[in-house]
Amino acid sequence: MQFDIITLFPNIIDSYMQESIIGRAQKAKKIKIKVHDLRTFSKDKHRRVDDTPYGGGAGMVMTVQPIDDAVKKVTRVKGVKKIKTRIILTSASGKTFTQEDAKRLSKYDQLIFICGRYEGIDARVETEIADESLSIGNYVLTGGELPAMAMTDSVARLIPGVLGAKASLDEESHTTPGQLEYPQYTKPEVYGYKVVRGQGSGVRKKKILKVPAVLLSGNHAEIQKWRQEESKKRSR
Ligand code: SAM
Repeated sequence: MQFDIITLFPNIIDSYMQESIIGRAQKAKKIKIKVHDLRTFSKDKHRRVDDTPYGGGAGMVMTVQPIDDAVKKVTRVKGVKKIKTRIILTSASGKTFTQEDAKRLSKYDQLIFICGRYEGIDARVETEIADESLSIGNYVLTGGELPAMAMTDSVARLIPGVLGAKASLDEESHTTPGQLEYPQYTKPEVYGYKVVRGQGSGVRKKKILKVPAVLLSGNHAEIQKWRQEESKKRSR
């Protein structure tokens, strides 16, 4: 699967994508992530990619031309073989991205993300070029790079071979919509924790934090039952 991210700030994305699981998955050729500098597609003599909004108002709006040319250039075409491509506009007013969307998008051969900046993007990109607009939450960020990275990350980890051979996606949070994973514990079995309330207040308490006994019992049926109950308590 190939991810293409069109942005004015490629460096923001490059460093994240080279690390850890996503970095290893690229080296192992399980996925391909290409980051494209939008400015290189501008036909303006000063390489401008934005302009003032029609109707007046504050700030600048990103123009259609560089985005149109970038999307056309990066869209994969492979002889007669049909490549399934989806063009995604990152937008604060888009549909909120969920695990279901990650699963749906993981079936494509290529995802192209368009990252906005400034006051946003000329609306014709949303109506004519993008297949869909997605938001990562009900808040406004300064740019679409974090949303594109978040969506790439969550789709990529669903591609076979991206997570290690031992990884299981079955019990993960959101695998069933609204359902969250049970709490996880690891060593040590007992942790002595000092609670400090307010610097210099002198109020110190020691707490002993234990792993739930059922997880140490070796009784797999009981462990399974406990996990299901805990998962239900957390789920929305
Ligand atoms: N004026 C725009 C509005 O009211 O929707 C906000 C533009 S925002 C400052 C610049 C860019 O950041 C957007 O074009 C979009 O690409 C991205 N962005 C901001 N918040 C986002 C969110 N919650 N989800 C996805 N993309 C977002």
